[in-house]
Amino acid sequence: MASQLIREWVGIQQFPASTQTKLLDLLGKLKHENVSTLTILVMGKGGVGKSSTVNSIIGERVVAVSAFQSEGPRPVMISRSRAGFTLNIIDTPGLIEGGYVNDQTLEIIKRFLLDRTIDILLYVDRLDAYRVDNLDKQVIKAITDSFGKEIWRRALVVLTHAQLSPPDGLEYDLFFYKRSEALMKIVKLGARIRKQDTWGSSVPVVLVENSGRCNKNEDDEKILPDGTAWIPNLVKKMTDVALNGSKAILVDKKLIEGPNPNRRWKEFIPLIFALQYFFIIKPIQGAIKSDIAKEARPSWELRDVGAASRKF
Ligand code: GDP
Ligand code: MG
Repeated sequence: MASQLIREWVGIQQFPASTQTKLLDLLGKLKHENVSTLTILVMGKGGVGKSSTVNSIIGERVVAVSAFQSEGPRPVMISRSRAGFTLNIIDTPGLIEGGYVNDQTLEIIKRFLLDRTIDILLYVDRLDAYRVDNLDKQVIKAITDSFGKEIWRRALVVLTHAQLSPPDGLEYDLFFYKRSEALMKIVKLGARIRKQDTWGSSVPVVLVENSGRCNKNEDDEKILPDGTAWIPNLVKKMTDVALNGSKAILVDKKLIEGPNPNRRWKEFIPLIFALQYFFIIKPIQGAIKSDIAKEARPSWELRDVGAASRKF
């Protein structure tokens, strides 16, 4: 990691002045909270706009974008620094191949991340997809199995292609709501987030429009259909997640090679049973036995025994 080339974040100067001001404010806020580095992991299926989103955030064309699925097989980390703050973004290849999660790709991504700390996961999908299916669940499950369910406390769901006209005359807000709801349902299922994991309901869903034809406001900032300048909005949501008090995910050997982090404790179940048997059940049984042995027989029982023996 030390050999990683960290360039000055010049792309930030390509943004309109008001975007630059907002971004520098957010970086200042992070630094104020002693966060001087953010490492962002970008994951999702192929062709959803992962690489385009990386380019949009950095403000330069740093990774290749392709309309046809021909992504490089390896993850790429882009590092930029600005005013003492370092931003690392890791773009990854899509996880699906031939209708399944490609375990080899996942393995390559995990190895690439060894000894790095993930501050934020951007789980990217498209807004203009009308269904979620088992494949989405598999991708989310694969991410969860690799890095632990806690990674979702550090996640944002990013929906690209945000500049769309919803089908069937649906209102934009309603369409966005329904799409987010359907996707979050599958995230909760795939990540096995339970009702008592209250944080599960606060995974932010953020809209992105990477297209060069994205509408702009009078300050020349790219905006969503509701007028929100989306780049500062995305960075603001990332800042909130970085400062939400949850722990960043350290990808160590144990996480990569060890058992599924979500099942690590399950291995101890037989041991817990054995300990329960020897230290709880056995002593209780012993105590009951000795109690029975020591128990003084009640007088009525002795009387009855006496009466019976007299009878015969
Ligand atoms: P990846 O495979 O997930 O990295 O996806 P890419 O970033 O390579 O994008 C796949 C295709 O979708 C490319 O043709 C992009 O130009 C296009 N694309 C990505 N994001 C957007 C977006 O927000 N809006 C539109 N209209 N096209 C996008
Ligand atoms: Mg890509």
